[in-house]
Amino acid sequence: MTEAPRLPISGGCRNEPILKQRGQREVFCGLTGIIWLHRKMQDAFFLVIGSRTCAHLLQSAAGVMIFAEPRFGTAILEESDLAGMADAQTELDKVVDQLLARRTDIKQLFLVGSCPSEVIKLDLSRAAERMTEKYAPSVRVLNFSGSGIETTFTQGEDACLASMVPVLPDTAERQLVLVGALPDVVEEQAVSLLSDMGIGPIKVLPAPRADTDLGVGENTVFALTQPFLGDTHAALERRGARHLPAPFPFGEEGTTAWLRAIADEFGVDADTFERVTAAPRARARKAIAQAAQALRGKSIFFFPDSQLEIPLARFLTRECGMEATEIGAPFIHKGIMGPDLDMLAQGPTFSEGQDVDLQLDRCRAARPDLTVCGLGLANPLEAEGLATKWAIELVFTPVHFYEQAGDLAGLFSRPLRRADLLDLEGTA
Ligand code: SF4
Repeated sequence: MTEAPRLPISGGCRNEPILKQRGQREVFCGLTGIIWLHRKMQDAFFLVIGSRTCAHLLQSAAGVMIFAEPRFGTAILEESDLAGMADAQTELDKVVDQLLARRTDIKQLFLVGSCPSEVIKLDLSRAAERMTEKYAPSVRVLNFSGSGIETTFTQGEDACLASMVPVLPDTAERQLVLVGALPDVVEEQAVSLLSDMGIGPIKVLPAPRADTDLGVGENTVFALTQPFLGDTHAALERRGARHLPAPFPFGEEGTTAWLRAIADEFGVDADTFERVTAAPRARARKAIAQAAQALRGKSIFFFPDSQLEIPLARFLTRECGMEATEIGAPFIHKGIMGPDLDMLAQGPTFSEGQDVDLQLDRCRAARPDLTVCGLGLANPLEAEGLATKWAIELVFTPVHFYEQAGDLAGLFSRPLRRADLLDLEGTA
């Protein structure tokens, strides 16, 4: 029999006090999400209405090849737009007309807000409505914000998916929707495990193309694959869909608990669950045990960045033997994070939001073996002798479900091994 996850004797952390911080933050903006979203949605185009800085961020992060036709771009707001001397809505209409005339492969156009477009209060929802009327039914135009004014980088995906939910068709079909943009190979593994248990029909949001049969309604249940999808969760519930709360599918234990929540909903019997999961679970346990050797007994400190911090802390403390000192997250949504918090043993400090100088002081005082943080903090901390892991790498690397569990542990053990090697060289 597949055993249920052991809950910590101390009773979990759902009701632990949270240190709320509202100060200077060091995070990437939500435009970053376009880099993985444009690969996932094959007929979508992301038009950022922003500055040259926004264009540079996207180009350098996405590493665009000059001979490829990219599926994102930036309509640069010039000084005359920012000063209100030109009608930015008219300018935007012209850019979109030219884009859609040239690129007939585009079926979904996202107008993406940025810091500059928000500062001049450019109303992109009005623009999207106007353009939808003009280009329907061949192109669907939506808008969301990727601005860095009040966001962290994973909120771009959340805002994008949430913008799609209100325009999904109604359906009365009993169905499971997996929510979150995963690499194709990982998504296929999840769908295959669930299908082998007899669960279906299974749909995914975001769908690869606009013309798929993805709908939503009162008989829809959904499982989140990423913990940063709070607005999408709320939008789906507004359409009558029901969330299946579960720990996130990181590591063997998290994946099993996530699958079990769905299997219970669909009445899968214990023998079937065991038959489908036994072999991949064993592979995952073996791979984690190998990769986690360097992690056992080591301390870890999370700066708030990717919003994966709480499920990852659960995985690293329970399955890899690490000890969490502080778990910082940009937002702590208990309806989404609750099952992971229940499995975490008490002890770490939980912080929500950031006041970066105060948090750096806490980190320096704790001297953790490993610090998970954004790129801007990693180099200074390395210079102070602290081993770091870039949080953004966790979103760009396939880390979900059984077959990636060893790689996930390996992402954390590599910087520790590297730090050990540097120490050895230093003492040689
Ligand atoms: S949206 Fe804001 S934070 Fe992001 S690149 Fe543009 S100006 Fe910078």
